[in-house]
Amino acid sequence: MNITDYKVHKNNSKPIIRIGDLVVGKDKLFIAGPCTINNKEQLISLAKELKKLGVNILRGGAFKPRTNPYSFQGLEEKGIEYLIEAKKVTGLPIISELTDLKYLNIFIQNVDIIQIGSKNMFNYELLKELGKTNKVILLKRNMCATYEEWFGAAEYIMQGGNTNIILCERGIRTFETETRNTLDLQAIPVIKEHTNLPIIVDPSHAAGKRYIVKSMSIAAVAAGADGLMIETSSNPETEICDSKQTIDLDELDSIIQSIKKLR
Ligand code: PEP
Ligand code: MN
Repeated sequence: MNITDYKVHKNNSKPIIRIGDLVVGKDKLFIAGPCTINNKEQLISLAKELKKLGVNILRGGAFKPRTNPYSFQGLEEKGIEYLIEAKKVTGLPIISELTDLKYLNIFIQNVDIIQIGSKNMFNYELLKELGKTNKVILLKRNMCATYEEWFGAAEYIMQGGNTNIILCERGIRTFETETRNTLDLQAIPVIKEHTNLPIIVDPSHAAGKRYIVKSMSIAAVAAGADGLMIETSSNPETEICDSKQTIDLDELDSIIQSIKKLR
């Protein structure tokens, strides 16, 4: 690994990342919510339930980079508005995916964490601009990125002066077709060995199927992940986007209980 001169290299001091009252690394991040926001009432009632279960950050996609251009593209600005409402009601910090620089100001002003999705990990112009902000960035691994390419993407952000970076393993593309991607849990020790950055795991986009999410969540925490991001809904079957990998509140509760026991 040729990253000894990078700012993200572990020989450099570990940045302290705060999200509201949470300190990343010290507090485990439990991020949950729908793949895409459907409507305000549903989001707010879900957010209240998630908070009761111990979730500490609410996710919700508003700008959706869909593979199929004819699929639902997200509620866009309206979605961010609903997230802000849900934050007002529950006090939960919010995360959403930024897909284009033209929306950067909306995100800087309103969300607590800017998510950079798998498809945009290689969008260096976007990463450079994020480096000039002091927002917390969740940088998802591209489905085909090596560790070194992923660290390079993080370095683009860090180079601009922003050290608030959390990495997210979300599965890589392999020859397997039963699962959507293959969750690379080895990313956790590799990142801790080579970088000064925290890492969380998204088992939902790795699995593509809800029955896999619980075991991979437990495995990720056992392997040292600093948190989880799980697509959750009060009624997964009716979700417009990623319904098959979305779990319900009972399953999320059971995951959180198992992790408490583990720890
Ligand atoms: C998401 O988290 O909603 C998402 C689109 O994930 P990824 O970028 O990992 O595909
Ligand atoms: Mn999704």
